[in-house]
Amino acid sequence: MRKVYLDHAGTTLLHPEVYSLMCEFMKNTFGNPSSIHSFGREAKKWVDEARQQVADLIGSKAGEIIFTSGGTEADNLAIIGVAAARHKKGNHIITSSIEHPAVLNTCKHLAKIGFEVTFLPVDRYGLVDPEELYKAIRPETILISIMHANNEIGTIEPAEEIGRIAKEHGVLFHTDAVQTAGKIPVNVNTLGVDLLTLSSHKIYGPKGVGAIYKRKGVRLQPVVHGGGQEKTLRPGTENTMGIVGFGKAAEIAARELDSEFNRTRQLRDKLIQGIKERIPDVKYNGHPELRLPHNVNFSFSYVEGESMLLSLDMKGIAASSGSACSSSTLKPSHVLTAIGLPYELIHGSLRMTLGMMNDAVDIDYVLEVLPGVVSKLRSFSPLANKLTV
Ligand code: PLP
Repeated sequence: MRKVYLDHAGTTLLHPEVYSLMCEFMKNTFGNPSSIHSFGREAKKWVDEARQQVADLIGSKAGEIIFTSGGTEADNLAIIGVAAARHKKGNHIITSSIEHPAVLNTCKHLAKIGFEVTFLPVDRYGLVDPEELYKAIRPETILISIMHANNEIGTIEPAEEIGRIAKEHGVLFHTDAVQTAGKIPVNVNTLGVDLLTLSSHKIYGPKGVGAIYKRKGVRLQPVVHGGGQEKTLRPGTENTMGIVGFGKAAEIAARELDSEFNRTRQLRDKLIQGIKERIPDVKYNGHPELRLPHNVNFSFSYVEGESMLLSLDMKGIAASSGSACSSSTLKPSHVLTAIGLPYELIHGSLRMTLGMMNDAVDIDYVLEVLPGVVSKLRSFSPLANKLTV
């Protein structure tokens, strides 16, 4: 049976070049980068190179990259780190209602311990309105944290405009770029961000490693306390093999960004068009243009998302019904709720995210299988011929 992996926003395979380099590193280098002897210096050389590779992907300086255990930790460090460092200046944070749980739950945690958080609404495409942001800023606002693009519906937020507004008001701007770095151009100066989150496993690097970009001069308090690694902001002996792999993945992502952007966008549009032509009563979620090149998200009326996922899995197709992190619960997606989808459509939603593992034959296969799966599941629904989207 053909296997089609359509969950690249959930995670990606290790790029073969990343794998080779990690093997070479692991075979030959084990030193602690903090040690001053030759074994330590050798390890440090690799970590420094990776830091430069990650910095190059986002147009920053190597010294502005702090390695973490992934996107979740980087989001925590950015938000809690700013809150702790700036609490005397103010206690108000602005975020959006469609952030990844790594941001949303960090902000909710801060709200519980005395900070005030504004969760901005989004429009039906998932876009934050810069005008609303403008109005939400108060003298005590210390941080704006709004994602660069959404992981479920792929909508790309007006980050540059948000960056301008933040700067105008002297408020720090953090963006979670886990879903954009390596997929669309990301440059910290163009975006006007002070802090930016990255994760390795979304760009064909190893899992359990990520980074926060911190603009020079921005003050952060560490969340984890310990030794002097990562300028004391992320103490603990570095995950050297993960960092080396992440660096290589960042280098490849930068090298292949244009070609992968165009290739996945073509596949994405073929899939979107094919679904619209072959399956009635569907709703296309997310923005039609301001969208990640590899993200497809549809709601199918009268279909239950989990049944659709299982039926597709039995045909070798791996997709997702929301973000991977929340798909083990049956709670309706907070993103689809925020864009105003009714409960029934939220439960019939399917996210397909394309990447290196896909080609046009995969899309043909999905377009051959999906209509049958949907119509079979609809045949079990008592509502199937009563409502229309
Ligand atoms: N932020 C976004 C937008 C994500 O999509 C994810 C993972 O899905 C994360 C943060 C968390 O990253 P990590 O899995 O590296 O902790």
